[in-house]
Amino acid sequence: MTANASTPRVALITGTSSGIGEAVVRHFCEKGHQVLAVDFNPAGKEIAEQAGAAFFQADLTDGEACKAAVADAIKRFGRVDILVNNAGIQHVSPIEEFPEAKWRQIIDLMLTAPFLLAQAAWPSMRENGWGRIINIASVHAQVASPGKSAYISAKHGMIGLTKTAALEGGSQGITANAICPAYVKTPLVDNQIADQAKMHGMKEQEVIENIMLKNAAVKRLIEPVEVAELVGYLASDLAGAVTGSSWNIDLGWTAQ
Ligand code: NAD
Repeated sequence: MTANASTPRVALITGTSSGIGEAVVRHFCEKGHQVLAVDFNPAGKEIAEQAGAAFFQADLTDGEACKAAVADAIKRFGRVDILVNNAGIQHVSPIEEFPEAKWRQIIDLMLTAPFLLAQAAWPSMRENGWGRIINIASVHAQVASPGKSAYISAKHGMIGLTKTAALEGGSQGITANAICPAYVKTPLVDNQIADQAKMHGMKEQEVIENIMLKNAAVKRLIEPVEVAELVGYLASDLAGAVTGSSWNIDLGWTAQ
Protein backbone atom coordinates (compact mmCIF):
# COMPACT_ATOMS: atom_id res chain seq x y z
CA MET A 1 0.00 0.00 0.00
CA THR A 2 1.10 3.56 -0.62
CA ALA A 3 -0.24 6.73 0.98
CA ASN A 4 -1.31 8.01 -2.43
CA ALA A 5 -4.74 6.61 -3.29
CA SER A 6 -4.60 7.77 -6.90
CA THR A 7 -1.28 6.71 -8.46
CA PRO A 8 -1.72 7.09 -12.25
CA ARG A 9 -2.50 3.70 -13.77
CA VAL A 10 -3.41 2.17 -17.13
CA ALA A 11 -7.07 1.17 -17.29
CA LEU A 12 -8.98 -0.81 -19.90
CA ILE A 13 -12.70 -0.14 -19.63
CA THR A 14 -15.38 -1.88 -21.74
CA GLY A 15 -18.79 -0.65 -22.85
CA THR A 16 -17.85 3.00 -22.90
CA SER A 17 -20.06 4.70 -25.47
CA SER A 18 -22.85 5.41 -22.98
CA GLY A 19 -24.13 4.94 -19.45
CA ILE A 20 -21.93 3.59 -16.66
CA GLY A 21 -18.88 2.90 -18.86
CA GLU A 22 -18.84 6.44 -20.20
CA ALA A 23 -19.02 7.80 -16.64
CA VAL A 24 -16.15 5.52 -15.54
CA VAL A 25 -13.97 6.68 -18.46
CA ARG A 26 -14.56 10.32 -17.53
CA HIS A 27 -13.91 9.65 -13.83
CA PHE A 28 -10.65 7.81 -14.54
CA CYS A 29 -9.40 10.46 -17.01
CA GLU A 30 -10.12 13.14 -14.39
CA LYS A 31 -7.99 11.16 -11.92
CA GLY A 32 -5.08 11.22 -14.40
CA HIS A 33 -5.17 7.55 -15.41
CA GLN A 34 -4.32 6.46 -18.97
CA VAL A 35 -7.50 4.90 -20.32
CA LEU A 36 -8.32 2.61 -23.24
CA ALA A 37 -12.07 2.70 -23.85
CA VAL A 38 -13.36 -0.39 -25.68
CA ASP A 39 -16.73 -0.56 -27.39
CA PHE A 40 -18.27 -1.94 -30.59
CA ASN A 41 -20.08 1.31 -31.27
CA PRO A 42 -17.90 3.65 -33.38
CA ALA A 43 -19.59 6.63 -31.70
CA GLY A 44 -17.53 5.66 -28.67
CA LYS A 45 -14.40 7.09 -30.33
CA GLU A 46 -15.48 10.72 -30.05
CA ILE A 47 -16.86 10.17 -26.54
CA ALA A 48 -13.59 8.60 -25.40
CA GLU A 49 -11.37 11.21 -27.02
CA GLN A 50 -13.40 14.08 -25.55
CA ALA A 51 -12.78 12.60 -22.10
CA GLY A 52 -9.04 12.21 -22.82
CA ALA A 53 -9.07 8.42 -23.41
CA ALA A 54 -7.89 6.31 -26.34
CA PHE A 55 -10.47 4.15 -28.13
CA PHE A 56 -10.43 0.60 -29.47
CA GLN A 57 -13.40 -0.64 -31.44
CA ALA A 58 -14.25 -4.26 -30.69
CA ASP A 59 -17.25 -6.54 -30.61
CA LEU A 60 -16.48 -8.32 -27.35
CA THR A 61 -18.69 -11.31 -28.18
CA ASP A 62 -15.69 -12.28 -30.33
CA GLY A 63 -12.92 -13.86 -28.24
CA GLU A 64 -10.19 -12.72 -30.63
CA ALA A 65 -11.42 -9.12 -30.29
CA CYS A 66 -11.10 -9.38 -26.48
CA LYS A 67 -7.47 -10.45 -26.83
CA ALA A 68 -6.83 -7.71 -29.43
CA ALA A 69 -8.22 -5.05 -27.06
CA VAL A 70 -5.76 -6.01 -24.31
CA ALA A 71 -2.91 -6.21 -26.85
CA ASP A 72 -3.80 -2.69 -28.02
CA ALA A 73 -3.65 -1.33 -24.44
CA ILE A 74 -0.24 -2.94 -23.90
CA LYS A 75 1.03 -1.62 -27.27
CA ARG A 76 -0.09 1.94 -26.46
CA PHE A 77 0.67 2.15 -22.75
CA GLY A 78 3.03 -0.74 -21.99
CA ARG A 79 0.76 -2.50 -19.46
CA VAL A 80 -2.75 -2.98 -18.09
CA ASP A 81 -3.24 -2.24 -14.39
CA ILE A 82 -7.01 -1.95 -14.14
CA LEU A 83 -9.67 -3.89 -16.04
CA VAL A 84 -13.28 -2.74 -15.77
CA ASN A 85 -15.65 -5.30 -17.31
CA ASN A 86 -18.73 -3.22 -17.97
CA ALA A 87 -20.11 -3.90 -21.48
CA GLY A 88 -23.57 -5.39 -21.31
CA ILE A 89 -26.90 -5.80 -23.02
CA GLN A 90 -30.33 -6.97 -21.91
CA HIS A 91 -33.08 -9.01 -23.51
CA VAL A 92 -36.41 -9.52 -21.80
CA SER A 93 -38.65 -12.47 -22.62
CA PRO A 94 -39.84 -15.59 -20.79
CA ILE A 95 -37.63 -18.72 -20.92
CA GLU A 96 -40.17 -20.46 -23.14
CA GLU A 97 -39.73 -17.82 -25.84
CA PHE A 98 -36.11 -16.76 -25.19
CA PRO A 99 -34.14 -16.85 -28.50
CA GLU A 100 -31.11 -19.16 -28.29
CA ALA A 101 -28.99 -16.69 -30.28
CA LYS A 102 -29.75 -13.93 -27.76
CA TRP A 103 -28.85 -16.26 -24.85
CA ARG A 104 -25.48 -17.04 -26.47
CA GLN A 105 -24.79 -13.36 -27.26
CA ILE A 106 -25.46 -12.32 -23.65
CA ILE A 107 -23.31 -15.08 -22.15
CA ASP A 108 -20.50 -14.37 -24.64
CA LEU A 109 -20.50 -10.63 -23.93
CA MET A 110 -21.16 -10.61 -20.20
CA LEU A 111 -19.42 -13.75 -18.92
CA THR A 112 -16.98 -15.12 -21.51
CA ALA A 113 -15.55 -11.71 -22.50
CA PRO A 114 -14.79 -10.68 -18.86
CA PHE A 115 -13.00 -14.04 -18.45
CA LEU A 116 -10.97 -13.64 -21.66
CA LEU A 117 -10.09 -10.02 -20.92
CA ALA A 118 -8.95 -10.92 -17.39
CA GLN A 119 -6.95 -13.84 -18.78
CA ALA A 120 -5.24 -11.62 -21.36
CA ALA A 121 -4.51 -8.80 -18.89
CA TRP A 122 -3.34 -11.12 -16.09
CA PRO A 123 0.35 -11.52 -17.12
CA SER A 124 0.82 -7.73 -17.17
CA MET A 125 -0.76 -7.34 -13.72
CA ARG A 126 1.24 -10.26 -12.31
CA GLU A 127 4.54 -8.94 -13.69
CA ASN A 128 3.90 -5.55 -12.06
CA GLY A 129 2.66 -7.12 -8.81
CA TRP A 130 -0.41 -4.89 -8.97
CA GLY A 131 -3.80 -5.30 -10.63
CA ARG A 132 -7.47 -4.45 -10.22
CA ILE A 133 -10.29 -6.35 -11.88
CA ILE A 134 -13.66 -4.67 -11.39
CA ASN A 135 -16.71 -6.42 -12.75
CA ILE A 136 -19.89 -4.44 -13.19
CA ALA A 137 -22.41 -7.12 -12.21
CA SER A 138 -25.91 -6.18 -11.04
CA VAL A 139 -28.42 -6.60 -8.26
CA HIS A 140 -29.47 -9.36 -10.66
CA ALA A 141 -26.23 -11.15 -9.74
CA GLN A 142 -27.90 -11.75 -6.37
CA VAL A 143 -31.63 -11.98 -7.00
CA ALA A 144 -33.70 -12.92 -10.04
CA SER A 145 -36.62 -11.32 -11.85
CA PRO A 146 -38.80 -12.97 -14.50
CA GLY A 147 -37.93 -12.55 -18.18
CA LYS A 148 -34.17 -12.05 -17.78
CA SER A 149 -32.77 -15.58 -17.69
CA ALA A 150 -29.62 -14.95 -19.75
CA TYR A 151 -28.72 -11.65 -18.07
CA ILE A 152 -29.26 -13.07 -14.59
CA SER A 153 -27.30 -16.23 -15.38
CA ALA A 154 -24.38 -14.19 -16.79
CA LYS A 155 -24.37 -11.83 -13.79
CA HIS A 156 -24.52 -14.67 -11.23
CA GLY A 157 -21.63 -16.30 -13.13
CA MET A 158 -19.69 -13.05 -12.97
CA ILE A 159 -19.72 -13.24 -9.16
CA GLY A 160 -18.17 -16.72 -9.37
CA LEU A 161 -15.51 -15.41 -11.75
CA THR A 162 -14.82 -12.49 -9.39
CA LYS A 163 -14.35 -14.75 -6.37
CA THR A 164 -12.09 -17.15 -8.26
CA ALA A 165 -9.94 -14.30 -9.63
CA ALA A 166 -9.66 -12.89 -6.10
CA LEU A 167 -8.35 -16.21 -4.74
CA GLU A 168 -5.89 -16.70 -7.61
CA GLY A 169 -4.71 -13.08 -7.60
CA GLY A 170 -4.29 -12.63 -3.85
CA SER A 171 -0.64 -13.60 -3.74
CA GLN A 172 0.16 -11.60 -6.91
CA GLY A 173 -1.13 -8.16 -5.91
CA ILE A 174 -4.25 -8.57 -8.06
CA THR A 175 -7.67 -7.88 -6.55
CA ALA A 176 -11.07 -8.67 -8.08
CA ASN A 177 -14.40 -7.20 -7.00
CA ALA A 178 -17.92 -6.91 -8.35
CA ILE A 179 -20.33 -3.99 -8.18
CA CYS A 180 -24.02 -4.80 -8.06
CA PRO A 181 -26.22 -1.82 -8.94
CA ALA A 182 -29.99 -1.73 -9.07
CA TYR A 183 -31.51 0.38 -11.87
CA VAL A 184 -29.15 3.08 -13.15
CA LYS A 185 -30.35 5.88 -15.44
CA THR A 186 -28.80 4.70 -18.75
CA PRO A 187 -29.95 3.73 -22.27
CA LEU A 188 -29.95 0.05 -21.19
CA VAL A 189 -32.67 0.84 -18.65
CA ASP A 190 -34.60 3.14 -21.00
CA ASN A 191 -34.92 0.22 -23.43
CA GLN A 192 -35.99 -2.14 -20.66
CA ILE A 193 -38.76 0.19 -19.54
CA ALA A 194 -40.29 -0.08 -23.01
CA ASP A 195 -39.77 -3.90 -23.19
CA GLN A 196 -41.24 -4.49 -19.73
CA ALA A 197 -44.21 -2.23 -20.44
CA LYS A 198 -44.96 -4.46 -23.43
CA MET A 199 -44.35 -7.72 -21.52
CA HIS A 200 -46.52 -6.77 -18.52
CA GLY A 201 -49.13 -4.71 -20.41
CA MET A 202 -48.33 -1.61 -18.30
CA LYS A 203 -47.61 2.07 -18.89
CA GLU A 204 -43.90 3.00 -18.75
CA GLN A 205 -44.29 5.05 -15.55
CA GLU A 206 -45.99 2.04 -13.91
CA VAL A 207 -42.99 -0.13 -14.87
CA ILE A 208 -40.63 2.32 -13.09
CA GLU A 209 -42.78 2.64 -9.96
CA ASN A 210 -44.30 -0.85 -9.67
CA ILE A 211 -41.48 -3.05 -11.00
CA MET A 212 -38.12 -1.26 -11.02
CA LEU A 213 -38.52 0.57 -7.71
CA LYS A 214 -40.87 -1.94 -6.06
CA ASN A 215 -38.15 -3.39 -3.81
CA ALA A 216 -36.21 -0.14 -3.36
CA ALA A 217 -36.04 1.67 -0.02
CA VAL A 218 -34.69 4.75 -1.85
CA LYS A 219 -37.27 5.48 -4.56
CA ARG A 220 -35.18 6.83 -7.42
CA LEU A 221 -32.96 5.59 -10.23
CA ILE A 222 -29.17 5.63 -9.63
CA GLU A 223 -26.90 8.06 -11.53
CA PRO A 224 -23.96 6.54 -13.53
CA VAL A 225 -21.49 8.76 -11.66
CA GLU A 226 -22.52 7.10 -8.37
CA VAL A 227 -21.27 3.78 -9.77
CA ALA A 228 -18.13 5.38 -11.28
CA GLU A 229 -17.14 6.73 -7.87
CA LEU A 230 -17.15 3.21 -6.36
CA VAL A 231 -15.19 1.86 -9.34
CA GLY A 232 -12.63 4.59 -8.61
CA TYR A 233 -12.30 3.48 -4.99
CA LEU A 234 -11.94 -0.22 -5.86
CA ALA A 235 -9.26 0.69 -8.42
CA SER A 236 -7.23 2.72 -5.93
CA ASP A 237 -4.11 1.70 -4.02
CA LEU A 238 -6.04 2.01 -0.77
CA ALA A 239 -8.46 -0.77 -1.78
CA GLY A 240 -5.69 -3.39 -1.83
CA ALA A 241 -7.25 -5.34 1.05
CA VAL A 242 -10.66 -5.46 -0.62
CA THR A 243 -11.06 -8.53 -2.82
CA GLY A 244 -13.60 -11.18 -3.71
CA SER A 245 -16.41 -8.86 -2.60
CA SER A 246 -19.68 -7.81 -4.16
CA TRP A 247 -20.57 -4.18 -3.58
CA ASN A 248 -24.27 -3.39 -3.72
CA ILE A 249 -25.50 0.00 -4.90
CA ASP A 250 -29.07 -1.20 -4.88
CA LEU A 251 -31.23 1.43 -3.16
CA GLY A 252 -31.76 -1.06 -0.32
CA TRP A 253 -33.31 -3.69 -2.61
CA THR A 254 -31.46 -6.69 -1.09
CA ALA A 255 -31.73 -5.43 2.50
CA GLN A 256 -35.10 -7.15 2.88
P1 NAD B 1 -25.51 1.05 -21.77
O1 NAD B 1 -26.42 0.40 -22.75
O2 NAD B 1 -25.63 2.51 -21.54
O3 NAD B 1 -23.99 0.72 -22.11
C1 NAD B 1 -23.58 -0.55 -22.51
C2 NAD B 1 -22.35 -0.38 -23.37
O4 NAD B 1 -21.92 -1.68 -23.82
C3 NAD B 1 -22.60 0.47 -24.63
O5 NAD B 1 -21.56 1.40 -24.77
C4 NAD B 1 -22.59 -0.56 -25.75
O6 NAD B 1 -22.20 -0.02 -27.00
C5 NAD B 1 -21.60 -1.57 -25.21
N1 NAD B 1 -21.72 -2.87 -25.86
C6 NAD B 1 -22.86 -3.57 -26.10
N2 NAD B 1 -22.59 -4.69 -26.77
C7 NAD B 1 -21.24 -4.69 -26.99
C8 NAD B 1 -20.36 -5.59 -27.65
N3 NAD B 1 -20.81 -6.70 -28.26
N4 NAD B 1 -19.04 -5.31 -27.67
C9 NAD B 1 -18.57 -4.17 -27.10
N5 NAD B 1 -19.36 -3.28 -26.46
C10 NAD B 1 -20.68 -3.56 -26.41
O7 NAD B 1 -25.72 0.24 -20.42
P2 NAD B 1 -25.37 0.54 -18.88
O8 NAD B 1 -26.65 0.59 -18.16
O9 NAD B 1 -24.40 1.62 -18.73
O10 NAD B 1 -24.73 -0.87 -18.50
C11 NAD B 1 -23.36 -1.07 -18.25
C12 NAD B 1 -23.21 -2.32 -17.40
O11 NAD B 1 -23.86 -2.11 -16.16
C13 NAD B 1 -23.82 -3.57 -18.01
O12 NAD B 1 -22.99 -4.68 -17.80
C14 NAD B 1 -25.11 -3.72 -17.23
O13 NAD B 1 -25.53 -5.05 -17.17
C15 NAD B 1 -24.70 -3.19 -15.87
N6 NAD B 1 -25.80 -2.75 -15.05
C16 NAD B 1 -26.62 -1.76 -15.48
C17 NAD B 1 -27.69 -1.39 -14.67
C18 NAD B 1 -28.65 -0.32 -15.10
O14 NAD B 1 -29.67 -0.20 -14.44
N7 NAD B 1 -28.38 0.47 -16.09
C19 NAD B 1 -27.91 -2.03 -13.45
C20 NAD B 1 -27.04 -3.02 -13.05
C21 NAD B 1 -25.98 -3.37 -13.85
